[in-house]
Amino acid sequence: MKIKTGLDYTSLSGTPMPDATGKLTEEEKNRVGAWVKEKGKAGVNPNCPVCGSPDWFIADHLVQPMTLGANRSLLLGGIGYPQVMLVSLPCGYTRLLNAVLMGVIVEGEQKKEEEKKG
Ligand SMILES: [Zn+2]
Repeated sequence: MKIKTGLDYTSLSGTPMPDATGKLTEEEKNRVGAWVKEKGKAGVNPNCPVCGSPDWFIADHLVQPMTLGANRSLLLGGIGYPQVMLVSLPCGYTRLLNAVLMGVIVEGEQKKEEEKKG
């Protein structure tokens, strides 16, 4: 699997923490690339299920699906599941991978960020 990066990736610095805009740093993207490569060795088909291409890029930001709480209502400001997006370069099909399980962010980091916001 060839991992390419977001289009404005070259402007990012190599600092270990997310930058002020929340974009993934070069170091974090490297961790994503290494994780995907490692999992690919286990025989997982690395090609896009829609167009068949092996070319993906890592989106600049993490995303998070809306979490549902009691009575299937939206849980705003509560627990979440941050995801890394791998986007198929030719067709745009997007894979979501859990950023905590991948080691891109550490457990509890998100909670600290929310506490900072007040
Ligand atoms: Zn595709």
